[in-house]
Amino acid sequence: FASQVAIALQQSRLLQEAQQSARQLKILSEVSMAISSTLNLDTALERVMARAVEILHAEAGSLLLMDQQGKHLTFEVVLGPTGNELLGKKIAVGNGIVGTVAQTSEPLIINDVTTDPRWMVAFDQETEFQTKDVLCVPMVAHERVVGVIELINKQDGTNFTQNDTNLLMSFAAQAAIAIENAQIFTRVDKQLAERVQELQMLQMFDQDLQESLKLEDVLNTTLTHTMDALGLSMGVMGVIREGQDTEPGLYLLAQRGMPMEMGRYRIDPWPLSRGILGRVARTGEAELINDITQAKDYVPKTHRTRSLLVVPVKREGRVIGVLNLESTDPNYFTDDDLSFITILVNQASIAIDNARLFDKVTEANNAKSEFMNTASHELKIPMTSIKGYAKLLQMGAAGTLNEKQTDFLNVISNNVDRMDRLVSDLLDVSRIEAGRIRLELENVQIKDVITDVVESVSTQIENKHLHLKLKLDEDLPEIRADYGRMVQIVTNLVSNAYKYTPEGGNITVSAHSQNSGFEGISVTVADTGFGISEEDQAKLFTNFFRSGDQNIRNEPGTGLGLSITKKIIENHGGELSFESELGKGSAFTFTMPLKSKIPPGVEVVER
Ligand code: ADP
Repeated sequence: FASQVAIALQQSRLLQEAQQSARQLKILSEVSMAISSTLNLDTALERVMARAVEILHAEAGSLLLMDQQGKHLTFEVVLGPTGNELLGKKIAVGNGIVGTVAQTSEPLIINDVTTDPRWMVAFDQETEFQTKDVLCVPMVAHERVVGVIELINKQDGTNFTQNDTNLLMSFAAQAAIAIENAQIFTRVDKQLAERVQELQMLQMFDQDLQESLKLEDVLNTTLTHTMDALGLSMGVMGVIREGQDTEPGLYLLAQRGMPMEMGRYRIDPWPLSRGILGRVARTGEAELINDITQAKDYVPKTHRTRSLLVVPVKREGRVIGVLNLESTDPNYFTDDDLSFITILVNQASIAIDNARLFDKVTEANNAKSEFMNTASHELKIPMTSIKGYAKLLQMGAAGTLNEKQTDFLNVISNNVDRMDRLVSDLLDVSRIEAGRIRLELENVQIKDVITDVVESVSTQIENKHLHLKLKLDEDLPEIRADYGRMVQIVTNLVSNAYKYTPEGGNITVSAHSQNSGFEGISVTVADTGFGISEEDQAKLFTNFFRSGDQNIRNEPGTGLGLSITKKIIENHGGELSFESELGKGSAFTFTMPLKSKIPPGVEVVER
């Protein structure tokens, strides 16, 4: 009977133990779930500790984390009456019970600490808490101790057991995972933030680069961005020029924090044979100099420089410029800086190259405009005199003319007129390109302009048996415009219409006021003429473009009228558009705003 009772007791104990470990397992899985649902390390650690203290029926508990160097442990979570006084306190690894556990990575049970020399009595004295028994286990992740968990006094006064140790080790493992997760998260989060910042910077940089095509602006933008990115106050950036009439070298067009004397290298080049700057320009290899006193070939630009980063700007394998960054501290630049600056410079290189090309094109174009301007003026003078003498002859000032002579004189007059138009157009083009168009603004009634134009071309229209219709709104508002230029615009559109419309066709000139969306007037010149093929439409507003169509080529023209017209309209703040179908006709429409919206850069005289 006694043995039966013993078995029953044994079984009931086993059952109790089984129930107990089932409960513990459940709590552990809850803890693990709770941890994975947060990436906040403090919350995760508090959850682990709260459950550990609860399930092991401890009176108090603390969790300490190891610092990066593995030298100290800090109280991160403190539960129980020991209160918050311990939070943030540090214990050196190797010191006391927790220090020993951190050092050996072995759990420790010390029942009755008063007998253990490692117990730090000071903590108890500070907190007025009576520590009796301690269970302390390490938290290990990847074979490294990342912290320690410590439980104090069982509530029922019994000792800590091996079972308790095993259980607490499971909690410690969970906490270690939480720490790992949080660390990975923080690292990834930091890296991500850095990338985002880098990208943002690159994007802003790109935006700034787009802003100007001027070489100096692009270089200054690049220099400023790179210097700001590295927190520097001294730098220069230059491009290599090797023209026929310029000495090859580096033109240091962008400079910041440099002494005045360096200014001369904006105009006279820094020789490619000189210094580290020249070497990088020659070799195309970036150089990072930690200590310039040790650097070979260093030519000082300022006496304050201690370290240096010089990066070539390359396009299609060719060095086109150099970025030179300087610091007052030795060892200032890192390899990461070099990589980052190289990315920035690569990004800038396209803009720099474009600006360089643009500079060259602008230079050539200015020379051409200059030439056109002088040549046109020179032509105008003899033409005026040819025209004058032809007129005199036609008027019979040198005696009566026979029919042949009259015919010849007409041919001369017509051709001089054509030349005059061509020269005027050329002058306009050169003025427009050089931005030298001047508008004399006055109140203009578009009806007057149209009437003037129609009068002056009526003979040509009648000769070609064309029908001209006017559809002008009553009470068209006045606009602020250059009257002469308005006449030029309408004349060009109407004369194109009659030139490129076969006999018997229709030309309609209409003018409307516009209120919806845009306040102003619109003028349309429509014809039932040859029309414009889609291929030609794409080139319509380029200088000297004329259709290859024989019908068009039979008419006189320079191919400059439309591009001049478009520019003048735009200079008034208006727009020119068209619709056309080959064989059916064309309609050109321009708008003029009521309140003058002259774009910046256009010279204006108000009348
Ligand atoms: P131009 O009339 O002196 O040739 P423009 O610049 O005025 O020069 O016009 C350029 C070209 O556009 C013309 O040569 C012609 O091919 C086309 N074009 C212009 N207006 C018309 C039109 N109303 N109908 C058909 N083609 C036109």
